[in-house]
Amino acid sequence: MALGRLPIEAYVRGILSEDRVILGRAITLVESQLPSDQILREEVISQVLPHSGKSIRVGVTGVPGVGKSSFIEKLGLLLVEQGHRVAVLAIDPSSQLTKGSILGDKTRMEQLAHHPRAFVRPSPTGGTLGGVAQRTRETMFLCEAAGFDVILIETVGVGQSETTVRDMVDFFLLLMLPHAGDELQGIKKGIMEMADGLVIHKADPSLAHLVQQAYQDYQNALHLFPRRENDWTTPVIPCSSLENTGHDVVWRAILAYEQQTKTSGWWKKNRQTQKKIWVHHILHEFLIQQFLQQPGMSDRLAQAEADVLADRLTAPQAIRQLFPPTPTNP
Ligand code: GDP
Repeated sequence: MALGRLPIEAYVRGILSEDRVILGRAITLVESQLPSDQILREEVISQVLPHSGKSIRVGVTGVPGVGKSSFIEKLGLLLVEQGHRVAVLAIDPSSQLTKGSILGDKTRMEQLAHHPRAFVRPSPTGGTLGGVAQRTRETMFLCEAAGFDVILIETVGVGQSETTVRDMVDFFLLLMLPHAGDELQGIKKGIMEMADGLVIHKADPSLAHLVQQAYQDYQNALHLFPRRENDWTTPVIPCSSLENTGHDVVWRAILAYEQQTKTSGWWKKNRQTQKKIWVHHILHEFLIQQFLQQPGMSDRLAQAEADVLADRLTAPQAIRQLFPPTPTNP
């Protein structure tokens, strides 16, 4: 057990009694990559899991600079003022890709972070996107068990991070800028198709005509998509975090979505699907861990890479050599 770890019951009791300090320490445990923490970590998660699940989980994405942090802070402040308890989590795969963090380095959401009914936690660092996302999913369970009834998960609009977040939230918000042109700002169409709500952010009054045009363009773009399986029509909502406008409309849309999909059964079905995805994520993580932990594997993997770089082997050939021969791997 790593230094400073508590007994299991202390974590569980602390989380269930909404102790933020213990919650923070439990999240550090969940994010730990130390093999010696694994059993404790899994036990804590399994004991709080029955107390999780009662929040609304909202994912927020958009290109860097679109204003995600500002938006989340204003939405969060609106919600805590209404009496909600809001946890903000983040998934930032850039810390893995570039060793620098897009989300993590900023001084973020200071006002919200200091509010007694809010909890702001930066992205876990290190590991694969799958691993980082896994930690965030488990952190979400802990926050729910600690009484947070709204979970906002921020992700940068790069790589596969949107799909990963979409797979763990109830409602997925895409933030776009008012200048709709620019090939929809590098946002892939597939991400628009995943969105349950589209926010035209930085819709300041001075940009009213641009916002109007963007509204039309986004509506038109959304109409081209086939009807959603859950029968939800994605709203387009102008919003300015500078002027503090539109966040209430966004929240009402989320509540309308909750009501509609809980009535139709989609809400539950979606969460069940997400649990299956969780199983498969864990399987992948587990297999890779086991595989890489074999004696001598890091050297053999380095050799495989060298063989592929020197064109001595193709990637499938090189990888196949790392596995023992079986009837399916001759
Ligand atoms: P993120 O990278 O998507 O998290 O974006 P940030 O929240 O850090 O915001 C990027 C920049 O946009 C900052 O300089 C903000 O002050 C600015 N910004 C955020 N919201 C608004 C808004 O509603 N209107 C305008 N004009 N600027 C905004």
